[in-house]
Amino acid sequence: MTEVQIRTLKGGTIALSNDILTALHSELHGSLCLPDEAGYDEARTIWNAMIDRRPGAVVRCRAASDVIGAVRLARDNGLLVAARGGGHNIAGNAVCDGGLLIDLSPMRSVHIDSKERIARVEPGVTLGEFDREAQSFGLATPLGINSTTGVAGLTLGGGFGWLSRKFGLAADNLNSVDVVTADGELLHASATKNPDLFWAIRGGGGNFGVATSFEFKLHPVGPALVSGLIVHPFARARELLAGYREIAAAAPDELTIWVVLRKAPPLPFLSSDVHGKEILVFAICYCGAPSDAEGAVAPLRALGKPLADVIGPQPYAAWQTAFDPLLTPGAFNYWKSHNFTALSDGLLDTLVDYVGTLPTAECEIFVGQLGGATSRISADATAYPHRDANFVMNVHTRWRERGDEQASIKWARELFAATAPHATGGVYVNFMPEDETDRVAGAYGGNFARLAALKAKYDPGNLFRLNQNVRPKA
Ligand SMILES: Cc1cc2nc3c(=O)[nH]c(=O)nc-3n(C[C@H](O)[C@H](O)[C@H](O)COP(=O)(O)OP(=O)(O)OC[C@H]3O[C@@H](n4cnc5c(N)ncnc54)[C@H](O)[C@@H]3O)c2cc1C
Repeated sequence: MTEVQIRTLKGGTIALSNDILTALHSELHGSLCLPDEAGYDEARTIWNAMIDRRPGAVVRCRAASDVIGAVRLARDNGLLVAARGGGHNIAGNAVCDGGLLIDLSPMRSVHIDSKERIARVEPGVTLGEFDREAQSFGLATPLGINSTTGVAGLTLGGGFGWLSRKFGLAADNLNSVDVVTADGELLHASATKNPDLFWAIRGGGGNFGVATSFEFKLHPVGPALVSGLIVHPFARARELLAGYREIAAAAPDELTIWVVLRKAPPLPFLSSDVHGKEILVFAICYCGAPSDAEGAVAPLRALGKPLADVIGPQPYAAWQTAFDPLLTPGAFNYWKSHNFTALSDGLLDTLVDYVGTLPTAECEIFVGQLGGATSRISADATAYPHRDANFVMNVHTRWRERGDEQASIKWARELFAATAPHATGGVYVNFMPEDETDRVAGAYGGNFARLAALKAKYDPGNLFRLNQNVRPKA
């Protein structure tokens, strides 16, 4: 093994000698992977094709001890370090140029204790892998809506999806997390062990260390849930959104309805003359007994005649993959996001206007419904503070040709600015692109000062800075 140059936290580079690399290599359960070696491109390639970075070296971890070895190497040599879980974060902080990449994606085990209703999950596990295993026991915990997303990054930022109105955020369902902190020690964080660290990592992202294991509470779910899509032509969008606002406000916790505004993809249940035209989609999941779903969904169905209504019982794990074909890796993506307590008239008008100028066929506006159990927790109970967010808008701009980049980003920024007067000012940390470092304090609101103090306790040198970074402040 030859000497390797690695970027440091100070901005220069340091040569890691053959002896250092050989010593690390010999202790790993996984592997040390240098540029152009097998596994290097797999480790550095993430969901958003906008991010194309080349780490100086990658530790492909297979055990907590590999993570400890990598963190100690970074600490001892002042290396720039990134942690990668499922590689789905839009900002791309999972990969660094020239630094040390701690790749957790090989750590893939999910252990379900069906009697105790708990899951132990390693940090490379995807939502699909977790759901499949938990559903074989009729159990689940709230996760996101795209099965290839990583459990680790999603949970450390908060994490919400179809089950959150009933059972809370993914982070709300954590019993404990094992974390390798900046001093290279493996700490157990729970309500009783290192409770301040446990508070911080439930929303604080990768700021406080590298998580090597998560323990989640599980709930009986499905296996079949009533879920699916109602697709409307765009002509009645404004009226439908006003109807949605009323229905969402009265919905039971079991019912979650998200709105998607976009051009129609070539879905098999839509006639071909609709493909490429603007549509309004209600995406629905009822996580209670299927026999109770009809009444809950009836008000939405009463909003008028759709182009398609494909709601019915289906396996929860299958519904969790429903959006995968629209969210495949490899496209260029840029996101902008706001939280809302309510959907004001002005907001709805603006959304409708902007759908008239969608820059590409794959751009879309998602309005996710939160509230329910996510709001019945106080804002300072976890680092994630947005307990007032009943709706989260995520503007997904997405394109395939470099030539569409400028127009797509401009459209997203303009829509973001036009909707800002209706928003809370808070933002979900997991939806922030890399150019929003000025929003980090807003993302943590009243919890920011406590997070900065805990950062000073657990990572005073800001070793873990490739994230939506909370700088240490004593
Ligand atoms: C297609 C798509 C759909 C999505 N849908 C949802 C959704 O429905 N609900 C939702 O809440 N979010 C959703 N998200 C956002 C998602 O929560 C974030 O992108 C999240 O960061 C992804 O986690 P990851 O492990 O895949 O990402 P990565 O990019 O690997 O990691 C993101 C960041 O988390 C940190 N990190 C990752 N693993 C660890 C670890 N083990 N220890 C310490 N730090 C770590 C690092 O700072 C890293 O930069 C979606 C994202 C995409 C791309």
